[in-house]
Amino acid sequence: MSDPKVGVFVCYCGANINGAVDCEAVKEFASKLDGVVYAATYPFMCSDPGQKLIKDAIKEYGLDRVVVAACTPKIHEPTFRNCLAEAGISPYYLEFVNIREQDAFVHMGNVEAATKKAMELVAGGVERAKRLEDVPQKVVEVDKSCLIIGAGIAGIQAALDLGDQGYKVYLVDKEESIGGRMAQLAKTFPTDDCAM
Ligand code: SF4
Repeated sequence: MSDPKVGVFVCYCGANINGAVDCEAVKEFASKLDGVVYAATYPFMCSDPGQKLIKDAIKEYGLDRVVVAACTPKIHEPTFRNCLAEAGISPYYLEFVNIREQDAFVHMGNVEAATKKAMELVAGGVERAKRLEDVPQKVVEVDKSCLIIGAGIAGIQAALDLGDQGYKVYLVDKEESIGGRMAQLAKTFPTDDCAM
């Protein structure tokens, strides 16, 4: 198998990252790393033009691994996975490097240290990206039924919610009647209604 071709995309996030990290220096550093065939910066990588930059580079440079150095993957990892898929490569060939919350935000005011840390994070991301493997996806039929063990108030509510969503629910409890602790209470705050 041929060596992976890695693309590195460093996001400014406006001044959120670029105000603390010298993003252009990170890009230059990344472009010289082993396996990297393309590196770029962009003010807002998650914007439509930013995503287009990635997709175009994948096609033009034959990239088969992508490193995005930006924010927490909690926000935009799905965005960039879609980007890869739309450009025709596995969405699992993405490596996300957080240089915002884990770097820029904690080293604001120390550009030299923040930039050095960003370079180290990106270098690690590139090495991880080169080792990524595809994760084949398959669709599996599942039986729309579920088992809930414990028929206290949480179990009963879960059973009702799942039932409303069309699931057949099996609710079991070790006791002879349902209700758990709730069934032992005479009244509940604040309405003084009967607990059951
Ligand atoms: S990808 Fe993340 S870091 Fe970049 S502009 Fe969007 S929110 Fe900001």
